[in-house]
Amino acid sequence: RKADALKNRSADDLRSPICCILGHVDTGKTKLLDCIRRTNVQEGEAGGITQQIGATYFPMDNIRERTKELKADAKLRVPGLLVIDTPGHESFTNLRARGSSLCDIAILVIDIMHGLEPQTIESLNLLKSRQTPFVVALNKVDRLYGWKPSPGAPIRAALKQQSKDVVSEFDMRLSQIMTELKEQGMNSELYYRNKELRKYISIIPTSAISGEGIPDLLMLLVQLTQKLMEDKLMYMSEVQCTVLEVKVVEGLGTTIDVVLVNGVLHEGDQIVVCGMQGPIVTTVRALLTPHPMKELRVKGTYLHHKELKAAQGIKITAQGLEHAIAGTQLYVVGPDDELEDIKEEAMQDMKSVMSRVDKS
Ligand code: GDP
Repeated sequence: RKADALKNRSADDLRSPICCILGHVDTGKTKLLDCIRRTNVQEGEAGGITQQIGATYFPMDNIRERTKELKADAKLRVPGLLVIDTPGHESFTNLRARGSSLCDIAILVIDIMHGLEPQTIESLNLLKSRQTPFVVALNKVDRLYGWKPSPGAPIRAALKQQSKDVVSEFDMRLSQIMTELKEQGMNSELYYRNKELRKYISIIPTSAISGEGIPDLLMLLVQLTQKLMEDKLMYMSEVQCTVLEVKVVEGLGTTIDVVLVNGVLHEGDQIVVCGMQGPIVTTVRALLTPHPMKELRVKGTYLHHKELKAAQGIKITAQGLEHAIAGTQLYVVGPDDELEDIKEEAMQDMKSVMSRVDKS
């Protein structure tokens, strides 16, 4: 079945790349996420940005609009970008689906005033060991002494507005940080000077307060994923789905929050998830996403869907999920599948989750 699913893919049908944000505490991970989400708030959710379970979805129209000043001629072919909402390590350390990481690309946030910090180095090592491509957001440029804000501007335009002193402090700090990255075995370059995307890490200076560099960041995430991992992004009918969290919700019982990385989920699908006391075989009762209209969002009110296509953050209700384990894979039992095989496969995840717990 997997072989068929692989064969039927095409470069004309890509799924949205999934992006995580990580870095040292206080570098601005949360603020950066707020900033890329909030730009279109005046238009309600008209910007097309939708809040999902555990993630925020940016449709390509939104990204195109916000990056038009950059006049990038490259074709934007992915349907959008799915950014995982929990900045920090959790989404990474605990959520490695066997063999493949949940995230296609990551943003490593570094504070331009502080350079590399202990958790920056930890994150770097994690990214290296997972072989996850990433970019560096060199955040808090607005804290350079004398910085003149140009809200939401592309970074090169913003830098042109600065005095000589600001530019020279910027250059000095940038080159210091590039040296520190080099000491960690990584070559890096300002993204617009980077001619070797596979060898050099791209650095995007940003401010999560005044928004400089945010268009550049969005653009680069899309361009890089398209360029470096087209194959991985081809939409596939085989379901690939990771359990982010197991949560009790009033009125719904125990639910699982998942990220559907590939394929389609349907109401009524028979699924298997890894459980503390063995594999859990159950049936999807409801596929839920938050209500799109913020004003109408009453606690506990979700939209129901008959089916949902990747990539998406989804809440699933079903019976028997009490002992499901976060960080494992969800499997759908197809008409030609042997349930026993899938149960066994699901429990393989237990081992990899446990070995990670042992290590940490
Ligand atoms: P996190 O721990 O990495 O999620 O960091 P936060 O997003 O909570 O930010 C930590 C602090 O830095 C907060 O007080 C933010 O307001 C501030 N901050 C974040 N980004 C920026 C930025 O670009 N410029 C400035 N001046 N402050 C920032």
